[in-house]
Amino acid sequence: MSEEAAQFNCTGCGKCCLEGAGALPVVEEDIARWEEQAPHVLKYVTWQGKAGARQGIHAGSTVTGRETTRCPWIKKYPGRPQYYCRIYETRPQVCRTYPTSREHALYTDCEGYDAPAVKGD
Ligand code: SF4
Ligand code: SF4
Repeated sequence: MSEEAAQFNCTGCGKCCLEGAGALPVVEEDIARWEEQAPHVLKYVTWQGKAGARQGIHAGSTVTGRETTRCPWIKKYPGRPQYYCRIYETRPQVCRTYPTSREHALYTDCEGYDAPAVKGD
């Protein structure tokens, strides 16, 4: 783990999933994993390309027809201002690598760098 990564503690504020997460890029690795482990996720995904090199978009609007700004898998913990991902174990690559740097975090209003470690889950 890099020194930069070691300083990152997600606060669970949910901003990264609530704002600007209505359309997430997905890659072959995500699509193949969902086919095997979580096919229900695929109803939010449209893709193009040949098997082995598919790329696409995960978006709630592909199902509802409505514009969304939040990811459909974000859920608030009852009684506290924190959120969790309902598909955390199989979340897409873009979520696994977010934020890609301290600058990326600052630019997207993520306060995880230099935040104290969150106790509990
Ligand atoms: S914006 Fe940053 S601190 Fe907030 S939930 Fe996302 S990764 Fe965690
Ligand atoms: S898949 Fe999970 S981590 Fe990614 S944007 Fe949606 S709720 Fe957030």
